Amino acid sequence: MALIVQKYGGTSVGSTERIKNVAKRIAKFQRQGHQVVVVVSAMSGETNRLIALTKEIQEQPDPREYDVVISTGEQVTIGLLAMALQDININAKSYTGGQVKILTDNTFTKARIISIEENNIRRDLNDGKVVIVAGFQGVDKDGNITTLGRGGSDTSAVALAAALKADECQIYTDVDGVYTTDPRIVPEAKKLDTITFEEMLEMASQGSKVLQIRAVEFAGKYKVKLRVLSSLDEKDAIASSGNNSGTLITIEEDKQKMEHAIISGIAFNRDEAKLTLTGVPDKPGIAFQILNAISQSNVDVDMIIQNVGRDGTTDFSFTVNRGEFEKALSILERVKLQLGAREILSDNKICKISAVGVGMRSHPGVATKLFQTLSDENINVKMISTSEIKISVVIDEKYLELAVRVLHKAFGLDK
Ligand code: ASP
Ligand code: MG
Repeated sequence: MALIVQKYGGTSVGSTERIKNVAKRIAKFQRQGHQVVVVVSAMSGETNRLIALTKEIQEQPDPREYDVVISTGEQVTIGLLAMALQDININAKSYTGGQVKILTDNTFTKARIISIEENNIRRDLNDGKVVIVAGFQGVDKDGNITTLGRGGSDTSAVALAAALKADECQIYTDVDGVYTTDPRIVPEAKKLDTITFEEMLEMASQGSKVLQIRAVEFAGKYKVKLRVLSSLDEKDAIASSGNNSGTLITIEEDKQKMEHAIISGIAFNRDEAKLTLTGVPDKPGIAFQILNAISQSNVDVDMIIQNVGRDGTTDFSFTVNRGEFEKALSILERVKLQLGAREILSDNKICKISAVGVGMRSHPGVATKLFQTLSDENINVKMISTSEIKISVVIDEKYLELAVRVLHKAFGLDK
């Protein structure tokens, strides 16, 4: 008997028909004698709909009330799924984040989980119930509803799996695993049987939408056995060892893979915007003053470049999520005045493409190949950043598809 946490994304619970199918899948696991905790997202499109409603009322919605509204989608699906299970004679009970007590900090719209109370869940599991928990939401110490950032149900599932020391955390989604790149752009993309946690983290932070970044971080930190698989796949997935469906995110690097594939995948992110402050006085503390102002407003900064100083001034560029572009721009206007910088340049028609692979550590020449491939297509590179297992470039958004395709091929991922 195993304890499994299963998470079903928006598409998997996108209609009452699909919810009934999910119930059947859960029932199968439960009848095999496993204990099952289920985390669900809102029905597909629902969270976007709720966000649009808030923006019809307030252009910059009040963060606390925003969370009150956008957390409701998950409350609908937990109830419906519990009913669907009861309807096929499975004892099931739903919980909101606050009812479990998934305690978070009070950073509305992207709160972090602090702790999870497990007593109620354990009791229900021991009574033979399937426990269904609303993803994406928690509660702060004052009882305010919080949400965990878009895609946050993945993090809810992994955090629950960590807290309950589950045998496996299964993320059911509308794709059957993690691919070498998005198959909608490159039809030759291949499903990976395994990917290391570090690679997955890079893929997620470089734009692969399969798993939320925080979920991967959590899984790595607490050594949660994490698997991504399809809920639309009829072929049954069993939690027993030897089950090779989906993609398993491993802690151990797969030695064999290291020898064969240097690059595991090409990730990309369209949601990027670039900001440059020119003519900044070149003296100590400048980077701090610029980035501190940005981070104080909870805007995440991704790539950063500072040019070589000349004539006592320098140019400073960074990228942010496109959704936070306006906010970052207005902060930068203020910083510009404070620092006496020359001007702000901005570009929100850019994208980022990354080649990711642990094999890079032991194989030189990956960067050369990447730059050559892009140059052969006359694609201009605007920013570069690297880590031990990743090379990212910022390019014009209009070249995204082309760049992904040629890189996927150049690194032999089509084969
Ligand atoms: N429903 C939330 C969202 O759309 C959380 C999730 O699906 O993971 O972002
Ligand atoms: Mg998701």
